[in-house]
Amino acid sequence: RVEPHWATLPDHAAEVETVRAAFIKKYGVEPDGVWSAPGRLNLLGEYIDFLGGSCMPMPLPYRTYVAGRMRTDGVLRASSVQMPGDDRTVVVREIQPGTFKGWFTYVAGVAWAMNHEGGRDIALPLNFGADLLINSKVPVGGGLSSSAALECSTALALLDLSCPLRAGCSATDALPSDLSPTNDALRARLAQVCITAENVVAGARTGGLDQTASLRSQPGKALVIDFRDFSIEAVEADVDQAHLSWLVINTNTPHKLAGGEFAARRAANEAATAGMGLDYLRNALPADLSCAGLSEQQAKKWRLDLVDSTVNRALAALDESADKPVFPRGWLRHTLHDMTLVERAAYLLKNTELLGATAWEELGRLFTESFVSMRDELCVSRREIDIAVDACLAAGALGARIVGGGFGGAVMALIDSDKLQHAAERVALAYAQRGFAAPEFLPMVAGQAANRDL
Ligand code: ADP
Ligand code: MG
Repeated sequence: RVEPHWATLPDHAAEVETVRAAFIKKYGVEPDGVWSAPGRLNLLGEYIDFLGGSCMPMPLPYRTYVAGRMRTDGVLRASSVQMPGDDRTVVVREIQPGTFKGWFTYVAGVAWAMNHEGGRDIALPLNFGADLLINSKVPVGGGLSSSAALECSTALALLDLSCPLRAGCSATDALPSDLSPTNDALRARLAQVCITAENVVAGARTGGLDQTASLRSQPGKALVIDFRDFSIEAVEADVDQAHLSWLVINTNTPHKLAGGEFAARRAANEAATAGMGLDYLRNALPADLSCAGLSEQQAKKWRLDLVDSTVNRALAALDESADKPVFPRGWLRHTLHDMTLVERAAYLLKNTELLGATAWEELGRLFTESFVSMRDELCVSRREIDIAVDACLAAGALGARIVGGGFGGAVMALIDSDKLQHAAERVALAYAQRGFAAPEFLPMVAGQAANRDL
């Protein structure tokens, strides 16, 4: 028997105090404020946000905290507790894509994107600068979106800190231009700014899932995001009432090599989209993928037939194109398949009261179906992930899957609350027996969107 290592659920107030104290230690003065943004658990939908599919993230209780103080000399300084000895300083107006490397690209990228596509009310005033101190409880590089948590907390901090330099905005305003989570229109624009920061300055061509989840989630709920227009719908995902729990496992396997692999899959599916003359690959599928009223078996047959016929249609369209790109058909298959799974899952979540326990059971099987697709079609799993998923299922999980882009990172499972500890023990034992690094188990309750804390 191997004792699983459980992380402790962060105490939000204590974390705010910790980052405040770290700021004072670093800069010798009180910060003007503290802002934070969550990582996310994506329940379903990988590699499809940039193709107009829907995804279903839930905000994590693990957040990135930014303590900040305004400067009026145009200088931005930043330090991260997670990057000791790598403090950075830059003149905001001199930030350009390609100037930096490493973690600071996410922070400087936000300032750059605010100025280049934020619009007048988001662009930073000319002399604005800031001192920032960052501390995070989101595992870094673990598929739980520490990068977006960093971007989104930084964006809120910079926008709010710059208030005294903006016309009509006084330092005594509670939240200038209403930065509160209920101002979804502004949140949606800030999310676009953070996406640009990640794509253009940090150089990661990811879609908009992570930033939308971090800025626009509602407390305790999952978000169904339609990436054709970034419209959102919050749905209850109250696993407690069904006596279920989320098991979130940081497999402690880095996904560093994934950049090129991610880009190749994205490019292939974008080529298929263009080959079919579509703006979004999602539009190759019918408008309604919920299979409302169908039994689990009927819904499964319907979607697998649909995926087959759509893959064939896409490949036939590509055959006709002059410079036909060649890629594994599984890459395309996975994408279309996952699009159908998310929308069925959203239907189930919205109807748990009506459908009862069978909704949760089918939901679990959708998770595993998606995992098998990521492993066998998209080919983004690895041994540590497979072992963790298998151990969860053997322990009685309703379903289990990779979270994030794969090649490492996190695994999640939906499981009877009484079996949670047993599943963690099985995963820990399976890892120990193979000599893998010990995984970390993260207690999961739904968190809330980015906000000001102090
Ligand atoms: P994920 O978003 O899944 O955690 P990414 O590779 O997208 O993984 O982002 C991880 C990168 O984001 C890190 O390598 C680092 O550059 C940056 N980052 C995330 N959190 C922090 C932090 N607290 N301090 C400094 N940099 C961070
Ligand atoms: Mg990321």
